Amino acid sequence: MSRIMLVEDEEAIAQTLLYALETEGFTTTWVRLGHEALASFAAQDIRLMILDVGLPDINGFELCREIRRHSEVPILFLTARHGEIDRVLGLELGGDDYVTKPFSPREVVARVRRILKRSEPKAQQEPLPASSLEVSVAHGRAVYHGVQLRLTRYELLLLSVLHSQPGRIFSRGVLMDAVWTDALDTDERTVDTHIKTLRAKLREIKPELDPIQTHRGLGYSLQLGS
Ligand code: CA
Repeated sequence: MSRIMLVEDEEAIAQTLLYALETEGFTTTWVRLGHEALASFAAQDIRLMILDVGLPDINGFELCREIRRHSEVPILFLTARHGEIDRVLGLELGGDDYVTKPFSPREVVARVRRILKRSEPKAQQEPLPASSLEVSVAHGRAVYHGVQLRLTRYELLLLSVLHSQPGRIFSRGVLMDAVWTDALDTDERTVDTHIKTLRAKLREIKPELDPIQTHRGLGYSLQLGS
């Protein structure tokens, strides 16, 4: 099933989180230290890792980097300071999301669900022609007509959401919720701004195509014509 590994040295926080996760039907593994996490991760089938940045033995970021050498497992960071967030968001670090302490266990469970949903293999979808568009958030990469796009994290996430259901119209609100999960001070114009830069980057590769459609009053969709 969906086994979640929690790497957290503070017992009170760990117990609260484990309780919340198990109540929601997840199976959990808890370790307190980074080196235990590495050993335990290698021995088990872990679907998602919740990783405290402030561990006594290894820094959570270093642990993430170590895990990324072997695995694309989704990683949700628990951070103590807002100052750590920029680093968490760095794609090169390979984290998928973060929450800042103190957090509500319910919020963490919601994030876990969201990440798992996002990382589900899309077995039902027809494979896109290799010439069109491939998006992988886990790999921090989008390839459009064979050319790798140079995207910011938000542009990549935005494209990934649109690409998850080509043709579906996503409202700005839905895109905000899906992409700017952490942002407190953004509004829906942020979506427009990023769509604009995304379009420009797609146009650099294929000037004659405009795969992102604007639906006035409704939102945006991605049209990948043949
Ligand atoms: Ca800690």
